[in-house]
Amino acid sequence: MQLILLGLPGAGKGTQAALLAQRLGLLHISTGDLFRAAAAEGTDLGKRAQEYMSKGELVPDEVTINMLLERIARPDAAEGIMLDGFPRTIPQAEALDVALDGQGRQIDGVLYIQVPEDLLMARLTGRWNCPSCGAIYHELTSPPKASGKCDKCGADLTQRADDRPETVSTRLGQNRAWTEQLADFYEKQGKLRPVDGTGEPAEVTTRLLEQIDQVSAGMGKA
Ligand code: AMP
Repeated sequence: MQLILLGLPGAGKGTQAALLAQRLGLLHISTGDLFRAAAAEGTDLGKRAQEYMSKGELVPDEVTINMLLERIARPDAAEGIMLDGFPRTIPQAEALDVALDGQGRQIDGVLYIQVPEDLLMARLTGRWNCPSCGAIYHELTSPPKASGKCDKCGADLTQRADDRPETVSTRLGQNRAWTEQLADFYEKQGKLRPVDGTGEPAEVTTRLLEQIDQVSAGMGKA
């Protein structure tokens, strides 16, 4: 089975992809993780990717597609894959279809985890750090007892630039543009499966598994 997980930042895509892949025996492939690993190793690919990643831009299609196709051609990807963070552009999606077709397989389902904008903002902007002792808080899941103050040492909490509302809002807008294009692309192929991404992570996992069961049932009939 070949699955794609789509969703905006904060939708829980990475966490769910890792969990589901393990549960279903699929290889979890995150292009972001592959680029970060290559950058850490200092390979040519990693250096090239890093130039774009550090600016928050997409790595060019040619580089990304080559890396991904090489990864899915390896033996450990033959039993099935769970793609996370790929494709992000229509040329990437088209190249993926062609490559899988050449291997006699195809994308079976695209799970689109949907979360309302205000909840995504709350999830992504809720993180606060203590500059003095390093404690980390989140307004939704682990708030400090007194707003803006560290429970452990009383220092004023600060927010990383990445977690500030202006930065998050820009990032969400950019991601929304390509995510919606891809959702349309897979909708036209009849493969898109929207999933409610609100509530506890375990509830979202259950909803995703229900959709995946339907994908499997459809494959049996094909
Ligand atoms: P992620 O961990 O998925 O947010 O990816 C981190 C960074 O890696 C992104 O901001 C991009 O610079 C790059 N990246 C990951 N996947 C892709 C992709 N499919 N196409 C282009 N760039 C990507």
